[in-house]
Amino acid sequence: MKRRQFVGNAVVAAASAATVAACGRGRGGPQAAGSAAVVTGERVRWRLASSFPRGLDTLFGAAEVLARRVGELSGGQFEIKVHAAGEIVPALEVLEAVKLHSVDLAHTAGYYFTGKNPAFAFDTCVPFGMTVREQEAWLLKGGGLEKVRALYADFGAVSFPGGNTGVQMGGWFKREVGSAADLKGMKVRIPGLGGEVMSRLGATVQVLAGGDIFPALERGAIDATEWVGPYDDEKLGFHKLTKNYYFPGWWEPGASLSFVVNQRAWEKLPAAYKSIFEISAAEAARNMQLEYDHKNPEALKRLLADGVRLLPFPKDVMEAAEEASRALLQEFAAKDATYRAIHDHWSAARASLHGWFSTAELAYTKFVLRGG
Ligand code: CA
Repeated sequence: MKRRQFVGNAVVAAASAATVAACGRGRGGPQAAGSAAVVTGERVRWRLASSFPRGLDTLFGAAEVLARRVGELSGGQFEIKVHAAGEIVPALEVLEAVKLHSVDLAHTAGYYFTGKNPAFAFDTCVPFGMTVREQEAWLLKGGGLEKVRALYADFGAVSFPGGNTGVQMGGWFKREVGSAADLKGMKVRIPGLGGEVMSRLGATVQVLAGGDIFPALERGAIDATEWVGPYDDEKLGFHKLTKNYYFPGWWEPGASLSFVVNQRAWEKLPAAYKSIFEISAAEAARNMQLEYDHKNPEALKRLLADGVRLLPFPKDVMEAAEEASRALLQEFAAKDATYRAIHDHWSAARASLHGWFSTAELAYTKFVLRGG
């Protein structure tokens, strides 16, 4: 017990010194923080339900990073057991499970719950919304997280940013999209608001879970599908069925995931463990984007070597989709005051962030990335 406390507290002290100045304060600083002030010694065991399958290491892996770091920083006293989608809770029912406290937390995407409240879309992304850096700036510095947390509070939960995919790909189209007219009657697998927009452009939209997409595309039940990006898409094997790989996924310009914790479980957590959780969640979130940025380039090279053709969506598709997206968000805002409040806050932040990012970042990126 003594040794465990020492080891645990020493690690916590190191973490505290680096990132959480509050820990160990008043006890003579990090050196003396090996007392109960930092780690209570209380054992906490949480169960996490993920909305993602174990095979998608980039998405699912963030929960494992969280669990591992929480365990390390607490000297093994604070344990999070991670369950993949469907193991103890179906993928899309994790928010309900957190609310009922049948699990302590979930790793999920807010936009899975737009049926409960359409404003949950802003926690993840909306078509033609913010890039990763803009979304993070809004959530973590611009007051966005408070807005989003107000939505989760209705479900007795508190949320923490839990990773991002970056701009997604447009996906795999058996028939070429030469103009917006080509989308009419096309059967496309695309969920959420992107699906609603695609439907307004004339496509027949279907929502299929990850494992059901390949057979549907193979037998022609759908003509096209989106998923995430090269690394994840390669695993599902869509390149074996069509070589037309469109970009960008304008409906998911930076899908931001969330760790969603039961409010009572959070409140009961010792203060030091709260810090440990916040540090670990932030690291897990950052690590997900790094994983994608590291793994997508190699996956893309493999796909191209296999004959995949990279095709940009035509300009008229992008413009029609942008217009339909704007109209859709405004319709929601007109119907619901809660939605309107978060929409207006997000919208003002987006305009401000776009104003900045359209200068140096855009000019540099456009110049240096010209020609791929
Ligand atoms: Ca997607």
